[in-house]
Amino acid sequence: MSDHSNNNEVSFFNDVLKYFDRAAKFIDVPEGILEQIKHCNSVYQIRFPVKIGNDYQVIEAYRSEHSHHKLPTKGGIRYSMGVNQDEVMALSALMTYKCAIVDVPFGGAKGGIKVDPRKLSAEEMERITRRYTSELIKKNFIGPGIDVPAPDYGSGEREMAWIVDTYATFFPNEINALGCVTGKPVSQGGIRGRKEATGLGVYYGVREALSVAEDCARWGMTPGIAGKTFVVQGFGNVGFHSCKFVHQGGGKIVAIAEWDGAIYNADGIDPMALEAHRNKTGSILNFPGTTTIDKYAALELECDVLIPAALENQINKDNADRIKCKIIAEAANGPVTADAEEVLNKKGIYIIPDIFLNAGGVTVSYFEYLKNISHVRFGRLGKRYDEAAGRNMLSVVEQMTGNMATSAQRELIERGADELDLVYSGLEETMITAYHAIRNELHSGAGVPDLRTAAFVTAIKKIATSYNSLGVFP
Ligand code: GLU
Repeated sequence: MSDHSNNNEVSFFNDVLKYFDRAAKFIDVPEGILEQIKHCNSVYQIRFPVKIGNDYQVIEAYRSEHSHHKLPTKGGIRYSMGVNQDEVMALSALMTYKCAIVDVPFGGAKGGIKVDPRKLSAEEMERITRRYTSELIKKNFIGPGIDVPAPDYGSGEREMAWIVDTYATFFPNEINALGCVTGKPVSQGGIRGRKEATGLGVYYGVREALSVAEDCARWGMTPGIAGKTFVVQGFGNVGFHSCKFVHQGGGKIVAIAEWDGAIYNADGIDPMALEAHRNKTGSILNFPGTTTIDKYAALELECDVLIPAALENQINKDNADRIKCKIIAEAANGPVTADAEEVLNKKGIYIIPDIFLNAGGVTVSYFEYLKNISHVRFGRLGKRYDEAAGRNMLSVVEQMTGNMATSAQRELIERGADELDLVYSGLEETMITAYHAIRNELHSGAGVPDLRTAAFVTAIKKIATSYNSLGVFP
């Protein structure tokens, strides 16, 4: 999607403060503790020169650590021309609440580098990333026990590999150096399943919401993802993987919007084939069987679930009254403004909030971090033991019954979990448990008005318990 939202006058951080205040009314925590939780603890603004082409450019960059109630702090680094201090602060605050909701024991942080990655060569990106990392090192804003970045909009495995390499060069004796950043390539200490984690988490979250029969009845739907219509904004890492898992789960993706336009097909779009088309042509447009439509009009199509998976402020006071879906599944951070939310709530649209729904990324980052500081791959110890146990059980059953298992049955029972199995299983468990925690808060009888407020209430209550040592809670 475009680097600039179409509603730039909104302060993203103010929206987050509004959500916080709305939730705080339902929480019995001393005012001073709420004040401590609410604001950003440390915000670092950096400017550094980098040689771009034959010129030197001053790069503006940030790292905001919102909350140190748990360490390290955690959150991605965004590379975009839309980066500014307000945005980075807002995103760091969302990280704090996100981690609390999914029980990931980190405070929230976020970084931003104001560049357009599409206009930079790989060498220039590397220079910028390494310099940014060394600036963070100088001010103690990175480290396995301090603050652990990850990918975000405009960054991925490649950038994370440069970051860990820079960090390890500065700290050759740091045994946990790999834990200074997550989202790394598997060959550099990454974990299998991290790349698709946010999209897979979005899928698990939406699937869980659509599994509650009484809620579906209220939305005028039958339970289950199969056959439901989806519109997705953004076909980057999160958008693509959300599409992939929704499609595999039987959902019908009728439209996908990107920065250069949107495509529509009432019979559904196959995301894997679309990905191949984009790799070949450089754009999702002109994908066989689809018609091209306006990228903003796509959001206003009638559908069951709208998944904004790009940037913040995409559904705002200008287009909120034209949104016609039943559910908005916030795969991006902050795609709906507070103003828009009022309109959408009145229309009865159910919003599954970002601080729950896109937490799959940081959840698997947490697994990667655990792998890095424990220096062992998940599944290494137990896989073959579990396989032997399955084999033994099968042979006992065969002896007792006199029947031989088919090869399909054998494969099912004799299989030990590898790293990817464990990551998917841990992510699925996390998303299902967290969904019901926030849904229960919504239906607790306290009068919490919507699922976002319920998610904030859940998060703030958990964070507040970290201040028990101050003696404020008996
Ligand atoms: N950038 C991602 C997010 O917004 C992932 C953060 C992480 O893995 O630390 O949640």
